[in-house]
Amino acid sequence: MSFNDIKKDNEYKCLIDGEWVFSKTKKTININSPTDNSLIGKIQALDKSEIDNIFEIAKKSQISWYETPVKKRSEILNKVADLILENKELISNLLVKEVTKNKSLAINEIERTVYLIKATAKEGLNLKEEKIKADKFYKSKKKAFIKRIPHGVVLGISPFNYPINLIWSKIAPALISGNSIVIKPSTQGTISVIYTLELFLQAGIPKGVINLITCNTKEIGDYLIKNKNIDMIAFTGSTSIGKRISNLVMKPLLMELGGKDSAIILEDTDLDLAVRECVNGCFSYSGQRCTAIKRIILINSIGYEFMQKFTSEVNKLTFGNPEENNFITPLINQEAVKNIELLVNNAIKNQATKLTNGSKINNLMTPIILDHVNKKCRIYYEEQFGPVAVIIRANNEQEAIDIVNDSDYGLEACIFTKNKKRAFEIAKKLNVGTVQINGKSERSPDNFPFTCLKDSGLGTQGIKYSIEAMTRIKSNVLNQ
Ligand code: NAP
Repeated sequence: MSFNDIKKDNEYKCLIDGEWVFSKTKKTININSPTDNSLIGKIQALDKSEIDNIFEIAKKSQISWYETPVKKRSEILNKVADLILENKELISNLLVKEVTKNKSLAINEIERTVYLIKATAKEGLNLKEEKIKADKFYKSKKKAFIKRIPHGVVLGISPFNYPINLIWSKIAPALISGNSIVIKPSTQGTISVIYTLELFLQAGIPKGVINLITCNTKEIGDYLIKNKNIDMIAFTGSTSIGKRISNLVMKPLLMELGGKDSAIILEDTDLDLAVRECVNGCFSYSGQRCTAIKRIILINSIGYEFMQKFTSEVNKLTFGNPEENNFITPLINQEAVKNIELLVNNAIKNQATKLTNGSKINNLMTPIILDHVNKKCRIYYEEQFGPVAVIIRANNEQEAIDIVNDSDYGLEACIFTKNKKRAFEIAKKLNVGTVQINGKSERSPDNFPFTCLKDSGLGTQGIKYSIEAMTRIKSNVLNQ
């Protein structure tokens, strides 16, 4: 497999109209390792005219791509999935460097993405035309021929924490349903994505159907999303940027934003299971997951026992470089570290108790447990994107439910209890997209629906649901 075309020396090119090209601006953006700040590579900083050109190319190529039989589109997606799998060593090593994911998580992200692409390629074959007759109120013999058709040009924007999965979970449903796509991956993570795009070319994706934007987002992010050739935006990232986009454009939007997932630990729970899931849920990938458990709501009567076990397990977590497959690895940048510090200091000032030392070396933060977090603490409500477990005490089940619902976010929640009936009763009362019973919050399996409520986003994703979101209903009515 050759990757010769994607870069010269350490400078990665952009994919525009099927060609790897340098920007006319001759400006680049450095991608440094969050672990030791060493330079991994440089990417292009496109300007406004280059971005406009990309969307024009995407608009033109969408027409012939939609005319390509869906079976052929499916074959190309299957082919790229196979190629990504063949190259998982190379790509996972890049993820380790670029976004400090440990090797096991990096491999898992790639394998999961391969599965997702293949499942989407298969599901897309089911998009059939439906025929319905007029209802009885009408005496005529009207018939509607209803079909899901592509929006046109989709703009896919993804965050740093799952560079491969969260861009391909936009690419695959967009393309199988006949859209073209322009992608703007998180700047940190772009190099890993570039390798998969080269594999896409080798799998036979026609030129112009997928194009890559890399740019100084702070300067031209707002400009880029307002381009008139965009027909739909699929965005994953922070609530603040998501809101900014939805204030600027009126187009179909699919938004996966921040979260504050809560886990309710009831007094009749299997404590070992709850502790295991909470440790993983809070600290996997150092807490940098939208569906990380960001609040543990603990019924007081089992508080002591749970905290003993939980603290002991957290103290066993390994931390250090991702290359050594540590559990806790450096955060993505200094800004993320500072945000965590501010939230933790504010919580301590407001009578929360810090139960671990929580030391820091550059971007690496060791796990922090904050007990007795209360409403005066910012971290009670605000999303922490780092290795901090927030423990909130509740006197009873109803108080725990009220705490879960007292949030601007609405991604997931978890309930730990041995009583399934009780769990389903509580689940009905929780205002979130998904409730996990006896398991940590997480976005998978990918064929399950993943609904983002309140400030956590708009719409539902998942293999079949993402295809629905990336298409619209067109009906042709035959009057006879
Ligand atoms: P972010 O700062 O919002 O960035 C997300 C993407 O938006 C990046 O590609 C970023 O580009 C781009 N962007 C920034 N400003 C923009 C603008 N004005 N116009 C258009 N695009 C713009 O988020 P992040 O720090 O990468 O990711 C962490 C956040 O994502 C957390 O809040 C997490 O909860 C959320 N998330 C949610 C889900 C979910 O499924 N709900 C999944 C994963 C992550 P640059 O990289 O160039 O800044």
